[in-house]
Amino acid sequence: MNLPPQLPPLREVIAAHGLSASKALGQNFLFDEHLLGRIARIPGDLAGKRVLEIGPGPGGLTRALLRAGAQVTAIEMDRRCLPALEELGAAFPGQLAVVEGDALKIDHGALMEGQPFAVVANLPYNVGTALFTRWLSPESDGGTWPPQWTSLTLMFQQEVAQRIVAEPGSDAYGRLAVLAQWRSIPKLAMKVHRSAFTPPPKVMSAIVHVTPAQAPAGVQAAMLARLTEAAFGQRRKMLRQSLKGVPGALAALEGLDIDSTRRAETLAVADFVALAGALSR
Ligand code: SAM
Repeated sequence: MNLPPQLPPLREVIAAHGLSASKALGQNFLFDEHLLGRIARIPGDLAGKRVLEIGPGPGGLTRALLRAGAQVTAIEMDRRCLPALEELGAAFPGQLAVVEGDALKIDHGALMEGQPFAVVANLPYNVGTALFTRWLSPESDGGTWPPQWTSLTLMFQQEVAQRIVAEPGSDAYGRLAVLAQWRSIPKLAMKVHRSAFTPPPKVMSAIVHVTPAQAPAGVQAAMLARLTEAAFGQRRKMLRQSLKGVPGALAALEGLDIDSTRRAETLAVADFVALAGALSR
């Protein structure tokens, strides 16, 4: 059996390449290789599998993914990190491709050559949420469901992670929960203490692992997006008020026997799916 290559500690990599963390790029690095190894195991066995990593930075998570035997394509915006990533690629010949650029502007499906891939990322909060909602609705980029990604393993602020897995009736339950749960299964995989990062962010983090599920038949993703936007845009209001602007919604509520004096946060994900289904016909 080949032993994995010996790599310098991450702090030495940062020092050697002068990679001081940039606040503007939302850089909070992970150095604990034991923790990074645990994160890389969340998606399951990655040996020989294709992984899209967004924001590798100095490559801590990347090296854990490479050690797990993954074929990694990494998109990084900060060109200062590229020499360190190049060294890492040389230690794992043929396993790492690095693309310099903004992950929000790149067509991930084309980059991964139409093949299935797992996504793993420790990203700044705003970028992570924007990419997450895009991955949840491939139709908005001309794609279909099931998506090309086989799983998403993403670091979020803990509060956002809780919104993704939230259940009806809780304060955290809202649009993000419905969009994340109607045809995929999100799980809170791991909480990560702020002190694990350099520099430590202000809040706690958590990793969410998402796998796609079968989409309910006859429901347009765009209709569900519209409904949830209207319903949770005025979450304190009764549905008969918040859904007024969605043509046919009040009749659909009645047809489905959903009391229009209820508020959005009391509806199950299945209720939103049924409503969107009725309006997609
Ligand atoms: N993965 C490394 C780790 O865990 O230590 C770095 C994580 S750091 C929180 C986020 C990384 O994402 C940074 O390296 C940053 O430069 C990069 N980044 C930020 N916005 C990006 C974008 N739009 N596209 C690609 N990379 C981005």
